[in-house]
Amino acid sequence: MSLLRVQNLSARYGVSQALFDISLDLAEGQVLALLGRNGMGKTTTIKAICRMIMAKGVIEFAGQNVLRLPSYKVARLGVGLVPEGRRCFAPLTVAENLTAAARPGPWDMAAVGALFPRLAERQGQIAGSLSGGEQQMLAIARALMTNPRLLILDEATEGLAPLVRGEIWDAIRILKRDSGLSILVVDKSLRELSDIADNAVIIQRGTSVWHGPMGAVDSGVREQYLGV
Ligand code: ATP
Repeated sequence: MSLLRVQNLSARYGVSQALFDISLDLAEGQVLALLGRNGMGKTTTIKAICRMIMAKGVIEFAGQNVLRLPSYKVARLGVGLVPEGRRCFAPLTVAENLTAAARPGPWDMAAVGALFPRLAERQGQIAGSLSGGEQQMLAIARALMTNPRLLILDEATEGLAPLVRGEIWDAIRILKRDSGLSILVVDKSLRELSDIADNAVIIQRGTSVWHGPMGAVDSGVREQYLGV
């Protein structure tokens, strides 16, 4: 069954139209990769789904039309966003960042600490003083603390050193294997995505132009749509 269904989505920033016609479907328990070159509309699609910008079309989450809901209600329905650029509360401690987001469910301080032992060791540290990789772990842990049904990861490994990227990918692999969480992921690392994602949607200039199993994103598709 579809957990997230987006159909014929369009959106604009003022006079400039960023999304023209986006459709995607994410089944419960699956990982969907949202692919596309820079500036094609991936982050805008995520913002529309999280109701951070106005959009037209269909956005259904767990069978409910969310197109007109305020963003906090979409979050409460079970959409956990890890935004591009992490956006942790810099003056608060790790523990405060996490408890501020907490909602009832299996993901609590102990569970996120087990997934990211580095965070468990740094509970009292001010978030602004964490390394980039640790802040990214905190952003993921904070989204998990909301006990979402859908986790959205927007460029979660962007700009990180290879070792830390590896740790983040390991955590995403564990999430897929052990938690049954549905995940929508934007990332440039096609190699890691091909391990993790079940399906993919490719966006070109604000329009979804290709969808299919991640395994079918072969060299021809990459060359045609992703320029790699
Ligand atoms: P990237 O991989 O570089 O993050 P993206 O696929 O996520 O790219 P978006 O950030 O969604 O792309 O941008 C889609 C289009 O919307 C681009 O043309 C971008 O310049 C434009 N855009 C994004 N944010 C704004 C904004 N706040 N105001 C005006 N235009 C914007």
